[in-house]
Amino acid sequence: MSVLRLVLGDQLDREISALDGIDEAADTVLMAEVADEATYVRHHKQKIAFVFAAMRHFAGELEDAGLAVRYQRLDDRKRATSLKDAVRAALNATGASSVIVTEPGEWRLLRDMEGWEKELGVSVEIREDTRFFCSRAAFERHAEGRKTLRMEYFYREMRKRTGLLMDGDEPVGGSWNFDAENRKPLPADIAVPDLPASKPDEITQEVLDLVAERFADHFGDLDGFAWPVTRRSALIALDRFVTERLPDFGDYQDAMAAGAPFLFHAALSPLINAGLLRPMEVCERAEQAYRDGHAPLNAVEGFIRQILGWREFIRGVYWLKGPDYGRENALDATRDLPWFYWSGETDMACLADVVDVTRRHAYAHHIQRLMVAGNFALLAGVDPRQVQEWFLVVYADAYEWVELPNVHGMALFADGGVFASKPYAASGSYIDRMSDYCSGCRYDVRKRDGEDACPFNYLYWDFVARNSKHLRSNRRMAMIYKSLERMDGDKVQAMRASAKRFLDRLET
Ligand SMILES: Cc1cc2nc3c(=O)[nH]c(=O)nc-3n(C[C@H](O)[C@H](O)[C@H](O)COP(=O)(O)OP(=O)(O)OC[C@H]3O[C@@H](n4cnc5c(N)ncnc54)[C@H](O)[C@@H]3O)c2cc1C
Ligand code: SF4
Repeated sequence: MSVLRLVLGDQLDREISALDGIDEAADTVLMAEVADEATYVRHHKQKIAFVFAAMRHFAGELEDAGLAVRYQRLDDRKRATSLKDAVRAALNATGASSVIVTEPGEWRLLRDMEGWEKELGVSVEIREDTRFFCSRAAFERHAEGRKTLRMEYFYREMRKRTGLLMDGDEPVGGSWNFDAENRKPLPADIAVPDLPASKPDEITQEVLDLVAERFADHFGDLDGFAWPVTRRSALIALDRFVTERLPDFGDYQDAMAAGAPFLFHAALSPLINAGLLRPMEVCERAEQAYRDGHAPLNAVEGFIRQILGWREFIRGVYWLKGPDYGRENALDATRDLPWFYWSGETDMACLADVVDVTRRHAYAHHIQRLMVAGNFALLAGVDPRQVQEWFLVVYADAYEWVELPNVHGMALFADGGVFASKPYAASGSYIDRMSDYCSGCRYDVRKRDGEDACPFNYLYWDFVARNSKHLRSNRRMAMIYKSLERMDGDKVQAMRASAKRFLDRLET
């Protein structure tokens, strides 16, 4: 009896559980570029191009390895528009009597797949995604009985469980976390290595042409597309990161520079999320760099924490909180998303730059996402659903399991603090300290009200005052509310009036 093995666009790993135990003589691997998945939100052009190009290369590798692959291209003449229809057509064509698939990365598709068995009339086995360090069940056990979820405790458990950066039962270097060393601004004269550049091959070029034609009205540029789309080029990107940028990753992890989104970051998230790199091999390479004396501990621990800690924790929260996570609106934020999130047309130099690099690369680094794009939406009280959609659309690494908790919980505090102990709200002085944006901005970061004042300053205090009923009882906000109370009443009024004027003028 032959089996149809469905492999999704973010499961491009030879070890994916859907391929476990495959009968090379009888089974068929199904991969499909379908319009429903490419357009359920209007993804950045580079995101679609990255996924399709990586899928086509992966399908070729499977064929080279002797597997039978049925591949549907988006522009095939006879094509299914949904995954379910693609599976149905493949069942008819191959005579397979059952389907095996690895669980997808979002509730929407999982719910859909759970109905396939009935609708298609064959057995459909949905297997666990074993690419993660922590299974959904293990995260549920971790969360059980805890009033609050904190990444740090989860991370320590994961260090012990995997043995990464451990000396016996103790953390290497005597401390679990070296974050305090990882907050340096970028020195003006520092040289930042370039990312590896790979010229699109014929397969990728064909996809780029297709995307340019079919998705012309989607956000984002295709010029300069440079994402690795094969396992081989992903391994080269990992190698270049570890040798060239990891040693400085820690020191400048939070730094921002105009026009330079990558700095010492890995730019590996699209590759890891799509399956081209495995989280364990990435962490092991980083740990080896430390053990070889090539990279310092603050860099390596900081990097491993992002993958072993944050990435796994965020995924755990996504599945734990269920399909309705993302619908709460704890701070009653209802403003429409400002138009400049798409156009980049704003006088705020920090935001204009983040939108610009996002359009050019489908990438911005964590602090740009959190403390510029996310922070502004938080302070301005933008509707969480609209912010979620923007983040899901614009980044090449965005899949709901990872995007949603980062946006809803971390950046917007819209879940009321499921895992963040307080909102990541900051005034212009944080952005000024960590970047070179303010020196090129028409606003004055030292001013707190008036036409020339930095909007992040008055919006910050307006946010604090406006959300008093939600945040005042939060112990970590106590000092901030004390400062607000001590402030001159006229000053507070002037800042709030500036905030109102600014927000009333926002184009949506
Ligand atoms: C508002 C917001 C939205 C985000 N949306 C996404 C998203 O859609 N997809 C996504 O992969 N990441 C998302 N992140 C997390 C993080 O910003 C990106 O993973 C990171 O910027 C990717 O770039 P990098 O590979 O250069 O990461 P580096 O800074 O070099 O970090 C190394 C790796 O750690 C992992 N990582 C780091 N932080 C996180 C995190 N908070 N959650 C999950 N993984 C993390 C990534 O795999 C990343 O490749 C979001 C963060 C915020 C604040
Ligand atoms: S002055 Fe304010 S708006 Fe301008 S770049 Fe600095 S933080 Fe951004």
